[in-house]
Amino acid sequence: MQRPDAFEHASIQWGDDGKSVRGLIVRCPCGACEKLPLGGSRFVTSEPDSAAREHQAVRRRLVPKGWFIGRARREHRCPQCNALRTTSQHMPRPSLPKQMPVEPPLLSLAQQVAPDIKRIMALAEQIGQRQIRKAKR
Ligand SMILES: [Zn+2]
Repeated sequence: MQRPDAFEHASIQWGDDGKSVRGLIVRCPCGACEKLPLGGSRFVTSEPDSAAREHQAVRRRLVPKGWFIGRARREHRCPQCNALRTTSQHMPRPSLPKQMPVEPPLLSLAQQVAPDIKRIMALAEQIGQRQIRKAKR
């Protein structure tokens, strides 16, 4: 099911003369947006399947630019976010082992143990000194 509110409808400035026409705004959550005029017979909004046709038309125009057109308004992604999204989808396997935080736990473990080691060394030193004292007697 296409949701009819997949795009924001608004009057937009379009063309060289910047005149106001009926159009729609495709927004990415990052703030980027693309405006398209609702001109032409392809965008007859009174038709029952207009939302689906509109969706198709928007796709046809924006997907070549790198946009991802989702079904709901918040699902659209601008070319930049779409690139991030697709790379993060394709990358996880090679990048996961590298991102595994191997050293921080070891460090924190060492940091946890460090005071104990100091205490043990201090004890050993005390014992050593005691033995030296005993030996001197
Ligand atoms: Zn974006």
